[in-house]
Amino acid sequence: MSFISIDLDGTLLNGENEISEENKKAIQYAKGRGIEVIISTGRAYFDVQTICKKAGISPYIIGTNGATTHSKDGKVISSIPISKERVESILKWLNERDFYYEVFTDKAIYTLEKRREYFYQEIQRMKSTDLYKETATEAERQLDQFGYVLVENYPDILKQEEEVFNIVACSFDQKKLAEAWDRFNMIGELGVVSSAEHNIEITNISASKGNALEKMAILMNVSLEKSMAIGDSNNDLSMFRKVGYSVAMGNAKDDIKAVCTTTTLKNDDDGVAHAIYQFMENYVLQK
Ligand code: CA
Repeated sequence: MSFISIDLDGTLLNGENEISEENKKAIQYAKGRGIEVIISTGRAYFDVQTICKKAGISPYIIGTNGATTHSKDGKVISSIPISKERVESILKWLNERDFYYEVFTDKAIYTLEKRREYFYQEIQRMKSTDLYKETATEAERQLDQFGYVLVENYPDILKQEEEVFNIVACSFDQKKLAEAWDRFNMIGELGVVSSAEHNIEITNISASKGNALEKMAILMNVSLEKSMAIGDSNNDLSMFRKVGYSVAMGNAKDDIKAVCTTTTLKNDDDGVAHAIYQFMENYVLQK
């Protein structure tokens, strides 16, 4: 048996943040032939659930970059939080440097109201420039997530009792972002990835899409070698390394395409559907 692991933003979702009819059809086609479908994303579980419900699909869900995994009926399979002390030191550091950041728990995405306003204004300014238009549009889509809780100050986030799975820090200043990446990547218990030009995403070092996929494969008795993963960014690399058949989106950067088995069409051209049919035809049904 095999499975198909699909990233959301820039992959299964089109520019309108929706799952197209063509992509839905392809997912049903694969499921009808005994292939399990897994959504693997940096988004929070409750956000993904809302998107899937709207599309009428109920897949396994790897959320917050592998820090949480849920079964098709919503049961928690595993969860790997960042320690409370570490969350505090991360937020303090980001706060002092005026980052816009989002803190993901299993109930909400906490963020500072004022900074969200500033970040939104910055996005609008960036959108009007030629050079940053695309990055800014992507950042704007991020603000479309479901489950935001706006607070005044970062201690308001720290006093929440829920466990933290993922912290996303955003900036259009590449140097500032790189500095944050180096800072947190240095800390042994943390893992850092990126899902877009304007962000870095911090999790527990044990949490990654690839590790979550590996655990699921054992649990479901599925061969990773016979499975497919589709994605478009740096945070998909860990799952590309685990499967036998990896697919980069047409809209992915060249360094992502270079490590994949093949490249499919862009997310706005139903690239996922195209990849699923190719995979079924050339890889699954041939064997
Ligand atoms: Ca993505």
